[in-house]
Amino acid sequence: MNSDEFREASKQLTDYIADYIEGLRQRSVVPDVEPGYLNDLVPELPPEQGEPWCNLFNDIEPVIMKGMTHWHSPRFHAYFPTANSYPAICGDMLSTALACIGFTWNAAPSCTELEMRMMDWLAWMIGLPEYFQFKYGPGGGVIQTTASESTLIAILGARTQILKQYGLDNRIADDQDDDEDQEDGQGGQYDGHSKHYELLGRMVAYASNQSHSSVEKAAMLSATRIRLIPVDREKNYSMNVDRLRKRIIADKQRGLIPMIVIVTLGTTNTCSFDNLFRIGEICSEFRIWLHVDAAYAGSAFVCPEFRHYMHGIEHATSFTMNPHKWLLVNFDCNAFWVKDKSLIEDAFIVNPVYLKHENQNRILDYRHWQIPLGRRFRSLKMWFVFRSYGLNGLQKHIRKQIELAKLFGQLLKTDDRFELFDEIRMGLVCFRLKGSNELNEKLLQSINHGKEIFLTPAKVNEQFIIRFAICSRTTEEMDVQFSWNLIQKHADQIILQRPK
Ligand code: PLP
Repeated sequence: MNSDEFREASKQLTDYIADYIEGLRQRSVVPDVEPGYLNDLVPELPPEQGEPWCNLFNDIEPVIMKGMTHWHSPRFHAYFPTANSYPAICGDMLSTALACIGFTWNAAPSCTELEMRMMDWLAWMIGLPEYFQFKYGPGGGVIQTTASESTLIAILGARTQILKQYGLDNRIADDQDDDEDQEDGQGGQYDGHSKHYELLGRMVAYASNQSHSSVEKAAMLSATRIRLIPVDREKNYSMNVDRLRKRIIADKQRGLIPMIVIVTLGTTNTCSFDNLFRIGEICSEFRIWLHVDAAYAGSAFVCPEFRHYMHGIEHATSFTMNPHKWLLVNFDCNAFWVKDKSLIEDAFIVNPVYLKHENQNRILDYRHWQIPLGRRFRSLKMWFVFRSYGLNGLQKHIRKQIELAKLFGQLLKTDDRFELFDEIRMGLVCFRLKGSNELNEKLLQSINHGKEIFLTPAKVNEQFIIRFAICSRTTEEMDVQFSWNLIQKHADQIILQRPK
C-alpha cells in the first residue's frame, strides 16, 4: 500500500467506522456464531501474493462483524463500560502512525512529556492530592495497560520497600560463582540469599473478598500471601475494617509482615466502596502501603459530588483508575499514580548501557515505571479527549450515565416481581427476580439468548444477581426503556405472571 492508496483506504475505513458506530442500534448486540466459526472464513495459510485493499475491506462484514459482540451498542449492558470516542480514535491513529517506543525521554521526548502533563491534568480533574502530580511532587503518574498491571506494580513496589527496610534491594545477586558451590559441595549459592527468601515468604497482602480477581492474580504472580477479608452486608458489601485490623495484628504476632492493603472504590460485582478513610488510618498506623483500585468508579471523581468516596485519600500510597473504562479514552489507558516517584523506581530500575542517555538525570524515563520496556504514545488519546470534551463534557457524560442507571432502577421498582440488590451509586444496577438463584439464572440465560441486549451476572453472599451497566456513550433513555421492556418480557415467559 503506497501513500495514495493509504489515503483512500483510510478515508473509506473512517467512513465505515462512523457508519458502524452510528448504526449500532440496528445490530444484534451478541453475534450468532459457534466457537470455531472463523475457520471456514479465513484460510489456514496466509496468501502468497499481496491482495488489494478492497479484498480486505470487503471481508470486514462477513468475517469480523459476523463474530463481533458490539461493546458500543447502546444496548450492551454487560461487565463495565469500555470507553469509545472519536477524539480517542484519532489519538490512537496518530499514535499508531508515529509508532514510537517511548521508553526513555530521549527515545521520544514528546511521548514522555505529554504523558507527564496528561497524568497531572487527570490527577487534578479527579481531585487527587497535589503531591501525586509531577508539578508539585514528589509523586507522579504513568499510563499502564490495565488496572491488573497497576495492582501488580503496587505489590512489587511495596515489596521493595519492605526489603529496603531490612537493608536489601530487589536484586538477588549471584554472589558466589559456580566453582565455589561445587567445591564446598553444599549448593551454597542459595545460602547467601536466605534472608531475601525468608522475608519474601513473610509478606502479606490484604483486600476484601469483593476485590477484583486481578488482585488475587497479582498476589499469585508475585508469590505473595493474600488475605481476602470478608465484607459487611449492612455496609454495602465494603471491607469489614475491624476484621482487617484483627488480621493484621494476628499476622504480625505470627511474625508475618503486612505489606500492602488494596482498597476497592467501586467493586466489580456491585460497585461497592471500601471505607478508604478507616482503612487508611490502619495502614498509616502500621506503615503499610495502601493501594486504591478505582478502576471503574475513579472516572466519576471528575464530578465533585462523588469525591466523598475518596475521603481518606491522603493515606493512599498509590491509586489507579481506568480512563479506558468510563472516561471516553479508548483501551488501553490505565492511569496509575504513586505518592513518591522513588517508591516505584526503586522496584524497577535496571540500567543497561544501551538505554543510557545524557538527559537521564534531568527528567524521568518511564521505563522505570512499568514491567515492559516498550510503550505506545497513549497520552495522545487523553490529550485529544480531554481537550475535545473539556472537563465539563466529561462530567456531563458521567452524570448522564448515572441518571440512566437511576432511570432503570425506577422502572424496576414498578414491577414487584423484581428487587434491587443494592443501592445505585454509579452507572450499575444490581437486581434480581424475587426468588431462587435458579430462577434468576434462567432469566439471564433467556435474555442473553435473545441477543438483543447483553447482561452479565455476579454472585454475592451466595445470591445470584443480574448486573445492568450503562456502558455505551450512545445509550439513551429509549434504550433503557427498550431493555427494561425486554427484561419484563423474558420474565413473563419464565414466571408467567405480571402484576397489574
Ligand atoms: N479492578 C476493578 C475494580 C475492576 O472492575 C476491573 C475490571 O472490571 C479491574 C480491576 C481490571 O481492570 P483491567 O482490565 O484494566 O485490568
